[in-house]
Amino acid sequence: MQEYIKEVEAKNANVKGFLKDFSGVLGDFAQKNAASIQSWQDRFCEMAGVYAFCLDSNEVPVSSFSGNPREIKIIQKYVTDVRIHNIFKRVSESELEDQAVEITEVPNLKLAAVAVKNDNSTAAVWIVCGVFTDEEYEKEFYHVPPLESFAYQISEPKFYKTLDFLRESMSVVLGIETSRTMAEASSKVSKKQELEMTSSFRRAETMTEIVSLLDSDDSIEEIMVDMLSKLCDYLQVSNSYICRVHHGHLMDIVVQWTAAGVSKMFPNTTDQEKCWFLGTDKAVVVSSDSQMNAGEREQLDNLSIKALVTMPIIVNGTVLFYACFTETREIRIWSIDDIKYINDAIRVLQSIITKRLQKNSLASSFASLESVLDNVGSSIYVRDIETGVLLFANRSFKKNFSKEISENSLVDLFESNIPSRSRSGNYEVNHRARGKWYDVYYTRIKWVDGRPVSLCALYDITEKKLYQRRIELQAYTDFLTGLYNRMCCEKDLARYVDEARQNDTHGALMYLDLDDFKHINDSLGHQYGDILLQDISKSISRIEGIGNSCYRMGGDEFVIIVPPDSYGRLDKILEEIKDAFATPWYLKDSDYYCTMSMGIVKFPDHGDSVSELIRKSDVAMYEAKKSGKNRVAEYSDNIDSSSIHRLDLEKSMYDAIGRSCEEFEVFFQPIISQPADLKSGNGQFKHIGAEALVRWNSGKLGFLSPDEFVPLAEYLGLINPIGNYVLKKACECCRQWNESGTGEFTISVNLSVVQIMQTDIVDIIKECIEENHLKPQNLILELTERLAINDLARTKQTLLDIKALGVRLALDDFGTGYSALSSLRALPFDIIKVDQNFSKGIETDDYSKAFIKTISQLGKTIGAEVCVEGIETKQQLGALKGLGVKYVQGYYYDKPLRRAAFEEKYVYS
Ligand code: C2E
Ligand code: CA
Ligand code: CA
Repeated sequence: MQEYIKEVEAKNANVKGFLKDFSGVLGDFAQKNAASIQSWQDRFCEMAGVYAFCLDSNEVPVSSFSGNPREIKIIQKYVTDVRIHNIFKRVSESELEDQAVEITEVPNLKLAAVAVKNDNSTAAVWIVCGVFTDEEYEKEFYHVPPLESFAYQISEPKFYKTLDFLRESMSVVLGIETSRTMAEASSKVSKKQELEMTSSFRRAETMTEIVSLLDSDDSIEEIMVDMLSKLCDYLQVSNSYICRVHHGHLMDIVVQWTAAGVSKMFPNTTDQEKCWFLGTDKAVVVSSDSQMNAGEREQLDNLSIKALVTMPIIVNGTVLFYACFTETREIRIWSIDDIKYINDAIRVLQSIITKRLQKNSLASSFASLESVLDNVGSSIYVRDIETGVLLFANRSFKKNFSKEISENSLVDLFESNIPSRSRSGNYEVNHRARGKWYDVYYTRIKWVDGRPVSLCALYDITEKKLYQRRIELQAYTDFLTGLYNRMCCEKDLARYVDEARQNDTHGALMYLDLDDFKHINDSLGHQYGDILLQDISKSISRIEGIGNSCYRMGGDEFVIIVPPDSYGRLDKILEEIKDAFATPWYLKDSDYYCTMSMGIVKFPDHGDSVSELIRKSDVAMYEAKKSGKNRVAEYSDNIDSSSIHRLDLEKSMYDAIGRSCEEFEVFFQPIISQPADLKSGNGQFKHIGAEALVRWNSGKLGFLSPDEFVPLAEYLGLINPIGNYVLKKACECCRQWNESGTGEFTISVNLSVVQIMQTDIVDIIKECIEENHLKPQNLILELTERLAINDLARTKQTLLDIKALGVRLALDDFGTGYSALSSLRALPFDIIKVDQNFSKGIETDDYSKAFIKTISQLGKTIGAEVCVEGIETKQQLGALKGLGVKYVQGYYYDKPLRRAAFEEKYVYS
């Protein structure tokens, strides 16, 4: 037990060490970058119109408040250190909140904290104070007048946007810095835990095998070799032998064992020169770093021994043999555990020899056996198979299972699973009353007096089980809401469908999609969107009958399975779900309504494969949306045919792909690089690149823009052939332009997340580059996070592999909800494409301008260029002056052009 506690402590110390290293990296990050953080923050505050400073993970300030010192003094009167401390704790210690906003005594002063987190550890916290221009307040609540004519003032909506922006941009910076270190360290931690688990398991297993030698009828030499091989195998020792010393200076080798590939230490076994470490009745332990005199060293060198352990085998007070374990291959430092383990095993051997020597003296044999079994680490008991009487229980067993002994429940608990004719084996037992798991090793042997007994050794594996369960649970749980995830849904659905089919019962699947969730996200900020998702999850999983079968499929989509057991309540469940959405959700101090559209399918009636059911429920849901949202539609074959357009689209798309994608046409829109001296006015531009944008010239449906078919293509997985086709065409064109055109061209191709999930995407890209002799850096792949990503780690790895080809990555649609790429934040993007929305009012809207400027500054920090999309007028282009934008794209220069038109104007001019 003592030993076990030590083991656990050591393990914890290791894990703590790693965690400390993590936070070291993070803490360091903020402090190391203090100077640049301060200057960035000063400019940020000035542009956004807030007062802010930054604390590191230990609450040590990294920067000081930006802003006018006199005004800061006034703010600090209300935003006290205690308040800062509290809000710091709030955001840094909570797993769910990474942003908090609090009111103060001043009606138009609010205090916010934004935690920058990497996974769950806080790297830095920004304290941001906003003096509002538009605060309406109840006079009687406030005794302090509002702050007036402060240099930095801000409207409330802008304040929240600023917080979002701050968190996003810091996360990007920080993610790049730390994600690799974190990933490496965390995989080390779990690998180590796993290693420790298997090693303690092996340890128990080997000892059980050794103990069962007690029952062996083999010759004593055979038993000895058996034991040496088991021990050496487990401890990874190269040689071992058992010898007898005679005439004071000679020894005979009784048995020896060597690992595979290691040569025998003693070719001759009789009358060998005695080794110096033999001859006492104490154990001798020599590690590779132990001190010894020259003679001793010489003898070890002659035998190539690098480390050794010797144990006397004492029977009836006399040393009969020595057991020696020697390492000849490599340096070895013995651990206390190694020695203890060898000692335990040698005691077993001692008792076997004693038993052999005193075959008739039952009592003494039993006593020695008892002392051995008392000292092994596990709980052991021996039971008479015929009478059921407990013959023996070692100390650990008596201590841990006194209740079971007195209740006589051992057989039921631990032996009911033993197959009737099996002599030995092992299996796991769940001891529900204790909430524990044990590994039970059983052997049926002859007891010291010859009667058949069953010997069971129990090892507590609860910790291992919990660990496994945690891993499983993580894989099946949606982090944000705590509901199960898509993977779990598919697994459960398959089970329920089987169950329904076998028992001739029914179940239902509800596909639920929130209406206009994006509005809530956009208007309140995604932190409130997250809260809403959590609230909804709570309400639906509280409904009787489906508590265990609610799943979040990603984004704002949920699935509820009504299992056969609850099918009788289907109507009631549906009512309760509708009720949940009929009442408002309380968010950010007011009530919000959020409705949902739902599609229902029944199984096995509507289908019996998981993918078919999910697809049909989705078709039904789509129908509900189409007929005006906020409603429920049940799947019927009619629905399918009534969503005719979608079906047509689907069918035509399959046809078009079947005919080698010829109907798809790639258009090109120029991306114009801005001369470095744009500041000075109308510098000459030069074209540098083109974005490839796909169109579909459908024979049946006419000319379709990507917005009309890309989402469906993604949904059906057909974006893969289409996207691969576009990629290929784009690379071919780029090759020709670079061979015969004027100047060097780059080509940007949009890549859907679905495409990234193709197992051979990296090869496809590589092939395209190689076939066309394209310089890899001339290919740019544009990405957004429009679709929920299921397997983040894999996506991330694929993107890194793509980058390793030399291809550049662009983050598309930045600034929209889709392009937070918060989950992919560690990716090294080369280009950030600011979404068209920011171009719309850029001549008039300070916010858009400030946003773009900050993005370019952020870009500088992470080594990325900025491209602004959707520039339509000269005024808009002019407004970009001095903002540090490298690339511009938009109708001002050209709409997406057919290939021939593009070439005429840009390539061969
Ligand atoms: P995107 O990647 O953001 O592409 C830019 C879109 O903005 C294009 O629309 C382009 O025509 C439009 N645009 C460019 N300049 C202006 C402007 O000054 N004003 C306005 N109002 N719009 C401008 P398009 O071609 O309809 O493409 C729409 C979206 O479809 C693209 O957005 C992209 O996400 C997707 N898409 C297009 N081609 C492909 C493709 O080959 N593969 C994938 N996966 N997605 C594609
Ligand atoms: Ca794009
Ligand atoms: Ca875009």
